[in-house]
Amino acid sequence: MEPYDPQAIEEKWQRIWADEAAFTTRNPEPGAPVDGKFYLLEMLPYPSGRLHVGNVRNYTMGDVLCHFWRRRGRHVLRPMGWDAFGLPAENAAIREGGHPRLITERNIESIRAQMKRMGWAIDWTREISSHAPEYYRWTQWLFLKFFEAGQAFRKEAPVKWCPKDQTVLANEQVIDGRCERCGSEVVARSLEQWFFRYTDYAQELLDEMDLLESWPERVLTMQRNWIGRSEGADILFRVEDSETDVEVFTTRPDTLFGATYFVLAPEHPLVPELVAGTGEEPEVLEYVRRTAARTVVEREQKEKDGVFTGRSAVNPATGERIGIWVADYVLMEYGTGAIMAVPAHDERDFEFAQRYGLEIRQVVAPAEGEAQEEGAFVAHSENERLVNSGEFSEMAAPDGKRAIVDWLEEKGIGRPAIRYRLRDWLLSRQRYWGCPIPIVHCDRCGVVPVPEDELPVLLPEVDDYTPRGKAPLAAAPDEWLRVPCPRCGETALREVDTMDTFVDSSWYFLRYCDPGNAGAPFDRGVIDYWLPVNQYIGGVEHAVMHLLYARYFCKVLNDLGHIGFREPFLRLFNHGWVHMGGGKMSKSKGTVVGPDDYIAEYGADALRIYILFVGPADQAVDWQDAGMEGMARFLRRLWRVVLEQAPKPAVDGPVDGPLAQKTHATIAKVTDDIGRRFGLNTQLAAVMELVNEIQRRPDDPAARFAAETAVSLLQPSAPHITEELWERLGHERLWEQPWPEADPALLERDTVEIVVQVNGRVRDRLNVSPDLPEDELVSLALASERVQSYLDGAEAARTIVVPGRLVNFVI
Ligand SMILES: [Zn+2]
Ligand SMILES: [Zn+2]
Repeated sequence: MEPYDPQAIEEKWQRIWADEAAFTTRNPEPGAPVDGKFYLLEMLPYPSGRLHVGNVRNYTMGDVLCHFWRRRGRHVLRPMGWDAFGLPAENAAIREGGHPRLITERNIESIRAQMKRMGWAIDWTREISSHAPEYYRWTQWLFLKFFEAGQAFRKEAPVKWCPKDQTVLANEQVIDGRCERCGSEVVARSLEQWFFRYTDYAQELLDEMDLLESWPERVLTMQRNWIGRSEGADILFRVEDSETDVEVFTTRPDTLFGATYFVLAPEHPLVPELVAGTGEEPEVLEYVRRTAARTVVEREQKEKDGVFTGRSAVNPATGERIGIWVADYVLMEYGTGAIMAVPAHDERDFEFAQRYGLEIRQVVAPAEGEAQEEGAFVAHSENERLVNSGEFSEMAAPDGKRAIVDWLEEKGIGRPAIRYRLRDWLLSRQRYWGCPIPIVHCDRCGVVPVPEDELPVLLPEVDDYTPRGKAPLAAAPDEWLRVPCPRCGETALREVDTMDTFVDSSWYFLRYCDPGNAGAPFDRGVIDYWLPVNQYIGGVEHAVMHLLYARYFCKVLNDLGHIGFREPFLRLFNHGWVHMGGGKMSKSKGTVVGPDDYIAEYGADALRIYILFVGPADQAVDWQDAGMEGMARFLRRLWRVVLEQAPKPAVDGPVDGPLAQKTHATIAKVTDDIGRRFGLNTQLAAVMELVNEIQRRPDDPAARFAAETAVSLLQPSAPHITEELWERLGHERLWEQPWPEADPALLERDTVEIVVQVNGRVRDRLNVSPDLPEDELVSLALASERVQSYLDGAEAARTIVVPGRLVNFVI
């Protein structure tokens, strides 16, 4: 028998698949029924360096589903592309020289070759890359649609700035006060920026989670927390001796009578005006300046301090003057940037009031009227009631809350309100390697969109990618930078910011459906056929950025009539990480493992089944070289066991018996595991068990049927060796064969009753699996206490086994 040669076999089939365009997916004829389609999407890879085994895990899982659903008769779309813009390529260009485009394209080429070598069934005719003008032309077009609809806008805003990368960061890119990419401490700055009006959709992003079919609960929870909806009231506080009202948001309007001082965030626009010309002005402005240099985390972790402004506000409930302070524990980004401080019932206010000797007045009390120490902190509790609250005293807190808000509303100084933690999406980046924003700035006309027929605005060539406090595009040649204003014809300046790369990845799954469309980003009919995505696979690290942005994008496009659905991804699956020696793989620690060496030694099929078999698909797994070895051994055994069956006549008509039953049970299990449970490790275990069984009884009448079926069931996981074996079994094109069907009649008899005799007399009965091997059946019968008592220590001289019926011990 010829030995198993993975390199030759894999090359052979990869060539055949490419020559036959085996995995190219045609778009449907208009009106095709959508229930026959299956859009399988894996998160857009970032082309940095080469693939690692974590990527191999993600795309191999996708590949199993792709083959499975194709063979189940679905019209499967399984595309691939590149999230090609972004900082790493630009930083590499600055570090090593060379153009970010060349670096990116070199990486793409090498990763694409690795993907092809893995044998993944990707439709390469649909490949897209976000840095290609044919793609970003439409990113710009979509930006213009958002701009026309008021969803893209500019504002001066305090922004988080990474001093090392010289760029503005989104909230999501600041982790513990540090830049997500380089780890530098983030500082505050104020800049005119482009935003998407993400917050318009905060409620819909919550409500329309109901439309999702199957998302991990933890991702939904992370999104809910990120959106951070809270209910309460907006209340106006009048600044004493002025006509100025300051709005606060509170979730506890029932504690209004306990508001004994007032705080403005240092960035609050009212601060300079409030202290102008007063003796407190220098100290307050110095405090504001010091705060600006601090990160949010530093502000949250340091001891609470602040400065008194010398001014007062009026508590609308009590009519009392309360001092206005400026303190950095209040953030401009949350609520209104101003708070009413209720030190008796808010821990941070309590700490602050103690430090500065401010009044602490209890206004809610636990239902059981225990005496409270004066000036103490009283945490909120179940069934609490209002005290020291005028006409509202003794009301249960929820009733008091409603009554106080009604009363404020009547006086025109308050109203119920809902606030979200979600901020608008800051999309401006002062970087080179991104999609140019299609806007010009004209002295006369202001902000003017580039006309659609002038798209794309091509990224110009520049000499220096290093940001020097301003965007690299500001140093672009004049012929790019200075253009006639589309409205008045005067010389105007192009926008020099580029877009956050999350814009590119918020619609790529739409472009895959219609990648060659030169007249539009996509055709609505084609999009509405393929979308929503049936199964999305990717890492949980994208729970609150990419996944929320993409959901927002689709809601806007739906509202603007460009697409016919609200949610892009019906089912989401988060694959687990691959660890190395117990820790997460990390480039800096040199523990990133790539597939190349393993492919060279064992072949892609062995690597594929190892990464599937190593653990449950959603859990972190630890990479073990010994495990790879075991998978390679299994494939060599499969090769021998199946080829041994090849000379037998092909299966003709139904077969019965224990091995046939085992085979049907395996079909049922593998089908359920792949199709419903994401049991990508257990389906392999089931096939391995079947192969063991064939090896144990190669002459069983069902052995050839079982071998063919094992090959067929293993095809999604190990497509090369199975294709070769299928051919050697005398068949063709396994990747196009219908998925095997389990015969329910054969599944029902999953146990049989075995009679156990001693010297021909019935001594016990056992219920066992019909395909239990003889030796195991005998040891099971021997283990019976009743049988043991009749054997009475004697050895059986002879053991007679009638499969599926009896065991007889002769003594
Ligand atoms: Zn940075
Ligand atoms: Zn103009």
